[in-house]
Amino acid sequence: MNREDREEAMELIGTLGEKGEVFLKDLQARGLNHPLTQEQISLLQEEKMIVIDPRGKVQATEKGKSLSEEIIRRHRLAERLISDVLILREKNKIEESACDLEHVMSPQLTDSICTLLGHPTSCPHGKRIPRGTCCSEKRTQIESLIRSLDKLDPGGQGVIAYISTRDHQLLDQLTSMGLFPGTRVKVHQKQPALVILFEETTLALDKEIAREIHVWRK
Ligand SMILES: [Zn+2]
Ligand SMILES: [Zn+2]
Ligand SMILES: [Zn+2]
Repeated sequence: MNREDREEAMELIGTLGEKGEVFLKDLQARGLNHPLTQEQISLLQEEKMIVIDPRGKVQATEKGKSLSEEIIRRHRLAERLISDVLILREKNKIEESACDLEHVMSPQLTDSICTLLGHPTSCPHGKRIPRGTCCSEKRTQIESLIRSLDKLDPGGQGVIAYISTRDHQLLDQLTSMGLFPGTRVKVHQKQPALVILFEETTLALDKEIAREIHVWRK
């Protein structure tokens, strides 16, 4: 099995696995972009990436799981990069480009992109990005260009790159106040409460909310 096919297959199995149990028929469903062939499934078994029980339930082995996590991480970081930095808006183009990119991202490049983006925890669709070694090591070689608002010092400012909350109500609320990608914000004070300035507005913000707002440091 070639590397790209193996990566695609394990990405599919890992992604389906996030929603619940995975059965053989799920891997061959018509609606999929790349349904797996019987031959590919047998190869994955031979390579000890997956095991299939008599009921047809598919489970990734340790080896399979770590490959799945790696590819999902690359895919979702690529999505973030494409949508936030390259500001590509067409949904299907993001998906397509992310799926191309994920196969050419080396572990180093993956961690560099992760660091550059401030170790994001979710993709533009709100799905989790598996953590990499860079996320816990707090590497300093490459400085993050994007960081969350709560990490700025008083007087620090930046331009909103993205807001990572999945709470739509909160997102609408922030948007209606003028807090959305492109808005320049300045941290006025952090104690006793976090207060930010933007446009003509002064606003006290919960730390939890500030953590969801990611800015380009400028
Ligand atoms: Zn992909
Ligand atoms: Zn996504
Ligand atoms: Zn990271």
